[in-house]
Amino acid sequence: MSRSWTWLPVPDLRFGTTAPTGAEVAAVDAVVAGVGPATLVVGERLVLGGRHRAAARRNLLLPALHALQRAVGWISPGGLDHVCRVLEVPPAEAYGVSTFYHLFSHSEPVADSTVHVCVDIACRGVGAMGLIEDLRGAGHHVRPSPCLGQCERGPAALVQRTGADDLSVAPAPVADVEAAIGSSSSSVAVVLPQAGSGNLHLLARVGVVDPGSLDDYRANGGYSALEAALAMGPGGVVRELTASGLSGRGGAAFPTGVKWQAVADQVGRPKHVVCNADESEPGTFKDRTLMEGDPFAIVEAMTIAGLTVGAEQGWIYVRGEYPVAAARLTAAIDAARGAGLLGDDVAASGHRFDIQLRRGAGAYICGEETALFNSIEGYRGEPRNKPPFPTTHGLFGEPTAINNVETLVNVLSIARDGGGAYAALGTERSPGTRLFCVSGRVSAPGTYEHEFGVTLGDVIEKAGGLVDGSELRAVLLGGAAGSFVGPDQMDLPLTLEATREAGLSLGSGVVMVFDQNDDIVDTVRRIAEFFRDESCGQCVPCRVGTVRQEEVLVRLDRGGSFPDERDLLDDLGSVMRDASICGLGQTASGAVRSAIDLGLLGGVS
Ligand code: SF4
Repeated sequence: MSRSWTWLPVPDLRFGTTAPTGAEVAAVDAVVAGVGPATLVVGERLVLGGRHRAAARRNLLLPALHALQRAVGWISPGGLDHVCRVLEVPPAEAYGVSTFYHLFSHSEPVADSTVHVCVDIACRGVGAMGLIEDLRGAGHHVRPSPCLGQCERGPAALVQRTGADDLSVAPAPVADVEAAIGSSSSSVAVVLPQAGSGNLHLLARVGVVDPGSLDDYRANGGYSALEAALAMGPGGVVRELTASGLSGRGGAAFPTGVKWQAVADQVGRPKHVVCNADESEPGTFKDRTLMEGDPFAIVEAMTIAGLTVGAEQGWIYVRGEYPVAAARLTAAIDAARGAGLLGDDVAASGHRFDIQLRRGAGAYICGEETALFNSIEGYRGEPRNKPPFPTTHGLFGEPTAINNVETLVNVLSIARDGGGAYAALGTERSPGTRLFCVSGRVSAPGTYEHEFGVTLGDVIEKAGGLVDGSELRAVLLGGAAGSFVGPDQMDLPLTLEATREAGLSLGSGVVMVFDQNDDIVDTVRRIAEFFRDESCGQCVPCRVGTVRQEEVLVRLDRGGSFPDERDLLDDLGSVMRDASICGLGQTASGAVRSAIDLGLLGGVS
């Protein structure tokens, strides 16, 4: 019997037959304009020329996909093919990248706007599910979303509009979402409970300065830190950083002075400074407060980092769910460049440094530093094995100083006032101040700045205490990757050392308060579901373990045998902790396990 083969039109493996529309071509070409071809030209040095040209185009993949999504509301086969042709990226790889992100759609749009409603641990307690029903009832196209980073003012929504910018709406009653769909700007305001209070360092300007005005920033002390840094030179900055004891605020608490010195020590290769503004840990919104309220501070701090480590290029990777932060940072970068504070001769110092902003597209794992590098480079946001570490092999395989927003903003007062003054705050082993994202059943949720050593109970009291009628049941400390603690931990000093000794972590500074009416079983299941969805899937312990963990919780909820299931959870937790590549898998069982230990899962405790 003869058999004839027919190639199926699989658009992810080869170019298809669908042509891009004029709108798609225009959107993509606007992103790629001015970048030369990756193809080698005769006489060009193979390694330097080819590698750098290909990387320069490939790192435009994410911006090009954003441009397509914005222009026509989805990543169509014809549009994706066009991106692949102009960027010289294999279609299968581009398809793999495009489908990695939550905010890119791959089916033809059914409406001119999509409303992403946060269904994560903070918003589901304040009416997110009802909001979804109401919006659907009113005829809107709605997609449930992981945490949108608006936990202090939920329920939150992100409106994605065809042909227009994305908008944040929080809180998001149906009428406000509908108003936003036809509006030109997001209906969110920076509300800082401590605004104007005298003891602030990181938040001193938030709610005080006009975030769109470089003049106002300068009138409030802006760029005095860069002046001081230029006066003391790179060695002086590293010396003050080391004296300050500043450690990274992203969770790992690595000493910032050591990191910067390690990058400064690298010679002979281009270097980078990267600002990790992809805070996506459920319950976390502190970096958003800084970016929306004091964007020039991030630009100034990155400039100091660039001049200190000898990098000429900086990158801000801001999560896709933060359109306001991205717009304000973009405007701040442009204004700083216009004033000679970025560019070929930063503040007449003779040094070059500039910044590019990249928007993520909805992938929690891209907050992991090496996944973030892959995402900027135009690859799937999958973490790399470490070592090698970013200080020698970071973005584009080159030495990179990567810090999150809060860490960078700390650098300003250290450069200006000296490391000794900074180290006088907080405790000996946890110097300085720390931002806390306080949400849940407190009277005044928001971003708060306190010296290390403040107790958990004080943090809650300073946020107005529990709302009337609430009894404290538990606090989620450190985010979904953190742990639940009970009312007996209110005297816990919030320092790196005290939390470590207690088997806890400050993580991203989340303090989410639950009372007697909260459905913590539902919250814990949502945490398990979140990790299942956000696992990048490249290592088995995490990919399979997060699914099995969620299944255990479902069985327990249906009356499963607690001793048997707890043994299985213990096994899963230890395998994920010991054998996962990155922090997602290593911490995915922490909150679940702590909830069981505290008896928060009701009948299953
Ligand atoms: Fe990906 Fe999970 Fe492995 Fe991290 S631990 S690399 S998220 S599969």
